[in-house]
Formats: sequence, structure tokens, C-alpha cells
Amino acid sequence: MFKKIESLDDLKRVLYLSILPCIIAGLVAYNFLGINAQGAAGRTYILISRFLVVWYIFNWICILNRRYIRQIELLNLVMITIMHIGTVYDAFFHYILCEKDGGFGISLIWTPLIYIIIFLTLESRTGLIWSLGVLGVTLVFGIIHIPDIPPKYGSSVVLFYTANLIYIILFYLAWHIFNALSELKAAKRNASLDSLTGIANRYQIDIWLDEHLKSAMEQRAAFSIIFFDIDYFKLVNDRYGHKTGDSVLKELADLIRESLPEEAFFGRWGGEEFIIITDYTKDVSSFLAEMVRSKIEGNEFASAGKLTASFGVASYQYGEMVDRLVARADVALYESKRQGRNRVTII
Ligand code: GH3
Ligand code: MG
Ligand code: MG
Repeated sequence: MFKKIESLDDLKRVLYLSILPCIIAGLVAYNFLGINAQGAAGRTYILISRFLVVWYIFNWICILNRRYIRQIELLNLVMITIMHIGTVYDAFFHYILCEKDGGFGISLIWTPLIYIIIFLTLESRTGLIWSLGVLGVTLVFGIIHIPDIPPKYGSSVVLFYTANLIYIILFYLAWHIFNALSELKAAKRNASLDSLTGIANRYQIDIWLDEHLKSAMEQRAAFSIIFFDIDYFKLVNDRYGHKTGDSVLKELADLIRESLPEEAFFGRWGGEEFIIITDYTKDVSSFLAEMVRSKIEGNEFASAGKLTASFGVASYQYGEMVDRLVARADVALYESKRQGRNRVTII
């Protein structure tokens, strides 16, 4: 249910799925305890709370199944806005102006939540307009009745409206910060991915190589690289066009990504040349290279039919630099080409 949060929609879904059960539990408790159940108003509250229990259970199930989320959000926004304005109205006209104890009461707890929901539902600009609209409507009650506000409530009325304004500014800024952070995260992710195949690009591969070198030096951990290059790829371009060549590269990247063990690091070195970095010894890595080679050989590429690739495997030798290791794997790969292609050479 709570997979990695990658976007605002993911965050909202997780929030709704965790907050709704709390609200439902609160409403059920309210029902059982029979708070304010006396009189016509009390019975109405109980009826409303029962309706809300059913409504929020329905919401939770829909959100879990990713259905009608937008419609549910907008409906709830309207309901909550009306409820909030109603609560402030009630507090203002039935408590504050009547000098009864309680003041803004429950609306103090709900106020920040209302603005969170508004910004989550409508996002930046529209959220700001809607929030200021809600504040404007509630402010009207206060402005019209300024002379009637009892002195003992003067400061809490001012504080209430000021707090509302602070919440709006705060959530507006929070929304922008979250947005900027998720854009930054996406940009960072894209910077390390090859735009054609979606696998790691050279930038990311260099980082992996450095990391592996470090742990190989410090912990004497095994570290090997497998290079492979598609055989006669120029012919694919010449025969079917560059676009088809591109889709072959994509298809091959998907094919290999799906068949590699999770702990192997796979990326596009450049052109039609790929690299697999492993924490395995030379023998295990060449076994893996052989598995990938036969996978490519056995695959029928959607637009180009059968293809093969040549492989070079090199294992880290203590004290050597990455460039040297890469050069050795390259030599092994070209040895495979020289010997007729579609084979694995270990160095
Ligand atoms: P071999 O490796 O077996 O020696 O032959 P080859 O035909 O594959 O030779 P080479 O590696 O020299 O050619 C690679 C070709 O791959 C040349 C280039 O046009 C093509 N290529 C490189 N990058 C891309 C790409 O992103 N898209 C497409 N469609 N073609 C690419
Ligand atoms: Mg080639
Ligand atoms: Mg090449």
C-alpha cells in the first residue's frame, strides 16, 4: 500500500489512506458515546456523523483501488469548506457574540486541516485563491459585527483571523517547497538515466565504477565488468532505418534489465555498447555474460529479427585503476569480435 513516494499524488494517497481510518474511528466513537445526542440538533449531528462514516469508508476503498480519487477530493473539499464556514459561523454567532464559554471551540482544531486539504486538492494558485475565499467569508462575520464583539473575546477573534492567514501563507510556501524538491528529485533521477533506453547512463556508470573500486580496495571485495556490443548493428540501421535501430536498443535494454539479478548494475556505455558491473568473481561474471549472450541470441527482436552480441569480461586486480580495468574488458570484447562475434572472452 505505501510504496515509494515519488509524486504529490503518491503523497496524497498515502495521507488519505492513513488519515481516513483515524477520522472514521473518531466518528464511530462519537456515535457510540452519544456526545451531544440530546435535542434535535444533537440527533442531526449523530445522523451526519453516521453518513460520514459510510462516506469515508467508501472513500477509503476507492482511494485504495485508485478509483474516482479526483471526484472524491473535490466533493470532500466542497463539504469540508461548507462545514468549516458553518462551524465558524456557529462559534461566532452562538458563542462569541452571546458571550458563552467556548469561543471558536472545535474550529480551532479543524482550521489548519482545512487549509492542508485545500492545498492538497487544488495545489498552488487555485489553492491560494480558495483559501483566501474561505478566510474572506469567515472574516465577513467578524467585520460586520466588530462593534458587537464582547471585549473578553476581542483578542481571540484577532488571533483567530491572524492564525488563518499564517496557515495559508505557510501551506502555500510548503506546497512550493515540496514541488521544488520533487522536481529536483526527478531532475536528479533523469540526469543519471539514458534518455533512449531508460537504463543508467555514462554519468551513473562512472559513479558505480568509483564506488565499486572503493569497496574493492578497502574490503578486497570481488568486482568485475562485462562489456558487450551488438554485432553488425550498422546493418540494422542501414536495412531498417535509424528509428528501428533505436527501438532495437530499447528492446534489448528491457530484455537484459529483466533477466539480470537484482545486485547487478546495468547501463549503456555509449552507442550500441552496454556494461554490466557485478560484485562477482571472474568465473561467476563470465557465467552471467554467457547467460546474457544466449538471451540475446534467442530473442526475436520485434522489428529486426535475430541479433547477437559480443562480450568481454574483466575482473578487478588489486591496485589497478578503473581505466585499466575498462581497457582490459574492451580488449576482451574486441577479441570476441575478432574471433567471429557472438561469444564471451574473459581476460
Ligand atoms: P560490430 O560491432 O559487430 O563490429 O559491427 P557494428 O555494425 O555494430 O559496428 P559499430 O559498432 O562500429 O557500429 C555501431 C553503429 O551503431 C554505428 C551507429 O550508427 C550505430 N548507433 C550508435 N548509437 C546509436 C543509436 O543511439 N541509435 C541508432 N539507431 N544507432 C546507433
Ligand atoms: Mg557493434
Ligand atoms: Mg560499437
